[in-house]
Amino acid sequence: MTDRYLELVNSGLTQKLAQQLGLPRPAVLRRHRPGRPLLDGPALVLGTGPDADLVARLLSSPAGGAPTTGETPAVLDGWDVEVHRHATPDVRYAAVVLVLTGVEHPDDLTAPVLAAASTLKRLRPGGRVVTLSHPALDSDAPAVAAARQGVDGFLRSLAKELRQGATGNGVVVAPGVPVSAPSVVAALRFFLSARSAFVDGQLLEVDSAAGELPTDWEKPLAGKVAVVTGAARGIGAAIADVLARDGASVVAVDVPAAGEQLAQVANRVRGTALQLDVTAPDAGDRIIAHAKARHGRLDVVVHNAGITRDKLLANMSDDRWASVLAVNIAAQLRINEALLTSGDFADEPRIVSLASTSGIAGNRGQTNYAASKGGVIGMVRATAPLLAPFGGTANAVAPGFIETEMTARIPAVTRQVARRLNSLQQGGQPVDVAEAIAFLASPAAGGILGRTLRVCGQNMVGR
Ligand code: NAD
Repeated sequence: MTDRYLELVNSGLTQKLAQQLGLPRPAVLRRHRPGRPLLDGPALVLGTGPDADLVARLLSSPAGGAPTTGETPAVLDGWDVEVHRHATPDVRYAAVVLVLTGVEHPDDLTAPVLAAASTLKRLRPGGRVVTLSHPALDSDAPAVAAARQGVDGFLRSLAKELRQGATGNGVVVAPGVPVSAPSVVAALRFFLSARSAFVDGQLLEVDSAAGELPTDWEKPLAGKVAVVTGAARGIGAAIADVLARDGASVVAVDVPAAGEQLAQVANRVRGTALQLDVTAPDAGDRIIAHAKARHGRLDVVVHNAGITRDKLLANMSDDRWASVLAVNIAAQLRINEALLTSGDFADEPRIVSLASTSGIAGNRGQTNYAASKGGVIGMVRATAPLLAPFGGTANAVAPGFIETEMTARIPAVTRQVARRLNSLQQGGQPVDVAEAIAFLASPAAGGILGRTLRVCGQNMVGR
């Protein structure tokens, strides 16, 4: 699905006209291409103390450099970014990283925040602002909690001010987890990279020091076997593509009626196809049996298959309610049960489920869908502790407006409005959701437990 307005507004004459009329001017987002540098310009690392020093060393590690030891993560290979520790006038930064793990009073935010402010007018298109902070806890001293919670409000507001495809996101590091932990490092890298093009205004918690960094950042899923449901088209097909690009062997699952498209996707990613309705009582067993027989193991399950049957609740038929709940949540619960009891999904496994911003903020006409997607968010929170003993995780991605056949069915005017109602003023692409899923499916994300990451361009509705 193309966004003609976005194309028009980025062509010479119309660009000026849109500016004069005060119309939205969505930017063409910078997206990941293998082999491209992490950033296309220097980064400014603000903050003092050992955490800020570590982040600066991490970013400036040379390509092909030898891994370092000690408390520094053994991944100093290849970030290769020119790092500044003080804002230099006239430099156009590609990223500003605010290391705020040491703040103990709201006053401590002043120096780093105002130093960042002085660079923002010169931030490069597609630039990145990333905060690193600790969560505010009930047990914190009031001033500490105020400073930490302040980061949340600051970051979400700043993200709404950034322009030209730039984004602001934060990594929230649980107490006791070092900044050198794999999931902190990997989340920082994800937010800095072009992989997070449509993730904006989000704060992602890292709960533990579990996880393992890749030896090659371009192939973080090397050797892994991943199942993707609903893979025949849309977001599911993009997930299959991205997981395969990142090194995984992919099992593409979809209903028999989508068999032809499914085979095309499976062939494209050099994976295998499994025709299966995820609501079948034996779906979990069939997934495990197929993955083991054809690929020898199973590491990642992406629950992407989903349907909408929108109606106001007053007009909701039994069938509309039940079919949405059956596909979008009951099937996931049943498949997870089979995975957990099989004994074949116990080597640092990953479950990543598709939620939706509708399940967070609610959406008129979508009570059934939002109940199912809210259910996904609750399910991953409660499933993560069951997988943690084997180094496993369950997390969700909540897309906002994504350009697919599902959203193409929305009436034209509503669709035009819906896709502009976020900080990036455009709908996301299926690949944007797929990138977030690939990140959460990776070994490095082993410390992110039961979380839901929004991929919504900072949609105006909900957090
Ligand atoms: P889509 O309708 O384009 O594709 C969904 C795929 O799931 C189809 O190939 C379909 O055949 C398959 N499927 C449906 N029921 C199935 C079943 N019982 N068993 C196996 N496969 C089944 O949808 P999409 O836009 O690509 O959405 C993918 C996921 O992302 C869904 O879970 C959806 O709820 C979620 N999502 C989408 C958006 C968006 O804006 N498109 C926003 C939020 C969440």
